[in-house]
Amino acid sequence: MRQFAVIGLGRFGSSVARTLYNLGYDVLGIDSSEEKTQAMVDSVTHAVTADGTDEHTLKALGIRNFDVVIVSIGQDIQASILVTLILKELGVKHVVAKAQNDLHGKVLYKIGADRVVFPERDMGMRVAHNLVSSNILDYIELAPDFSIVEVAAVPEWYNKTLRELNMRTKYGLNVMAIKNNGNINISPKADDVVGEGDILIVIGSNDDIKKIEKLGE
Ligand code: ADP
Repeated sequence: MRQFAVIGLGRFGSSVARTLYNLGYDVLGIDSSEEKTQAMVDSVTHAVTADGTDEHTLKALGIRNFDVVIVSIGQDIQASILVTLILKELGVKHVVAKAQNDLHGKVLYKIGADRVVFPERDMGMRVAHNLVSSNILDYIELAPDFSIVEVAAVPEWYNKTLRELNMRTKYGLNVMAIKNNGNINISPKADDVVGEGDILIVIGSNDDIKKIEKLGE
């Protein structure tokens, strides 16, 4: 069973910690504010009040033994960078750090963060795509130019097979899965038929995705 530690129990960190704990994982939550740790005692395995920039405390807590450590300090960029650096120096295998902006993210990668997340930027983008196009339900950026989107089937697709829709040639997009009423077909075949209420999970370049986004404007 993987073990997680979350340093910084603000809005983002507390949500990550609570979700992991509810999924049944062991979670250590650390925050320098006693008020924050007190609020989380019932939502994590252990909640500790400590300064994440204090290397000795992190060592004493056995931070090295955690499989994943999430650094969710946003406002105090200096603290976020110091904590990430210390964790990598102590040999933590997988460090996920939250960045406030692109420059902060670049620094975090340079000092060894294994993954950097930009919650506000990503959520803003997802909401915006969903607002401009009624058929785009979700939008996840994979790389700067490529994304995965959840698209509600538009009427002109109903009762057509994937071969007939021919999205690969027409739009340069690949259909990865088709969801319907809680069922998910994760290896759609050319003869599978798209129906009303289906949700297609599609991967492609942002430019190509724009073409199907237009169908729902
Ligand atoms: P969010 O936007 O997710 O609420 P914040 O940056 O506002 O993120 O919150 C970060 C949390 O990290 C706060 O609860 C703060 O007390 C905590 N924090 C800040 N610096 C440290 C540190 N050096 N060690 C541990 N926790 C810290």
